Amino acid sequence: MKIAFIALTGMALLGQTSGDLGYTDTPILPGLPYHVHDPARPHPKVVAPAAQPGGAPSDAIVLFDGASLAQWTAARLNLVNPVSTQQPAGWKVENGYFEVVPRSGDIATKEKFGDVQLHIEWAAPTEVRGTSQNRGNSGIFLQGRYEVQVLDSYQNPTYADGQAGAIYGQWPPLVNPARKPGEWQSFDIVFEAPRFDGGKPVTPAYLTVFLNGVLLHNRKEVAGPTVHRALAKYAPQPAEDSLMLQDHGTPVRYRNIWVRRVRGYDQPEK
Ligand code: MG
Repeated sequence: MKIAFIALTGMALLGQTSGDLGYTDTPILPGLPYHVHDPARPHPKVVAPAAQPGGAPSDAIVLFDGASLAQWTAARLNLVNPVSTQQPAGWKVENGYFEVVPRSGDIATKEKFGDVQLHIEWAAPTEVRGTSQNRGNSGIFLQGRYEVQVLDSYQNPTYADGQAGAIYGQWPPLVNPARKPGEWQSFDIVFEAPRFDGGKPVTPAYLTVFLNGVLLHNRKEVAGPTVHRALAKYAPQPAEDSLMLQDHGTPVRYRNIWVRRVRGYDQPEK
């Protein structure tokens, strides 16, 4: 036993290539060009986290900083082919948040995205009006197509695949951690864009969603762009497209919105 220990220790020392920074006498990882503990494997870049939880880290693209909708345009929500009008976003900005102006239309980012991590905070109107889907409805459309539902889901009966955090019309959230009307809530979303080959979908989109820090979807497969009272089905689309927010006729508020472009599962380390 003691001899084996010495032998192993000796091998580890011989295998070291640069102090304790890695090994080259180790097995090659299956499907990868690297040894286990390979010193030549690319190191993740350093990202400075925000000073406060929920804040934007150093490599995030801040889409709303509390003051201006300059990074957004008015948009017309077409559930298969979202169209940005290039007109200024007409929603109301005040007190560090912006608010849906009912029936003014949707808004979309000027910048287009593929795979992202998204943080977004929202609040349903304090004054409760309407029921079910008419109460505090809005929506976060990844690539203008895939809706994570925004709804006042505090003691508000509606169909399960339409409540807050639902992948609308497809998957109810695992649980309902909704806060009361008027209280700020946070979504943290990881979106993997679908992959197409020659216009044909080869890999679906996936969504991971937290609401108020509670897991709602764990890399859930998305069936296709969001539709209402119909079955979703993929259609050819660009690799990147705008993030859209929905005007569903109620003055939902948003603040602190940032995204990070994330390396796709099919992209090499570098
Ligand atoms: Mg909606």
